[in-house]
Amino acid sequence: MSQCASCQRYYEARHADETVCSICSAPNRDHGKLMVVAFDSDIIAIERSGVYDGLYFVLGGTVPLLHSEAIKKIRGGGLKATIEARLRSGLREVILAFAVNPDGENTARFVESLIGQIDSNSKEALQVSQLGRGLSTGSELEYADPDTITNALKNRG
Ligand SMILES: [Zn+2]
Repeated sequence: MSQCASCQRYYEARHADETVCSICSAPNRDHGKLMVVAFDSDIIAIERSGVYDGLYFVLGGTVPLLHSEAIKKIRGGGLKATIEARLRSGLREVILAFAVNPDGENTARFVESLIGQIDSNSKEALQVSQLGRGLSTGSELEYADPDTITNALKNRG
């Protein structure tokens, strides 16, 4: 398995010199949108819905309430660097796609605070939205069906 240098997910590389996965290298993806998910499996669930055409970033976990140590285990620094770099190449929207539960909300707040630390002129126009509005409380993205994900994407805010 290789790790994608862009979204950080693990995938089966087709060539030895490949550094980004098939989603990140696809010419038809909208580089203006970045969806932040907790796990590789969340990408699979969202891709199954077929309605999202932007890029992803896999945080590698969540930031549970009362477990601030968890911040060290996820890719917070990598996400901040990715957003900083993408802001220079037309990033318009960051979509936070975490489970609808207290840990998911805490993780969203953590990512929002990371974005708050970014010093960039283009940050003013950056929209930060949450997928959670269309999902019912307690739902895990991984188990959401394509229709649910489609609705959640439409109703994000
Ligand atoms: Zn990728």
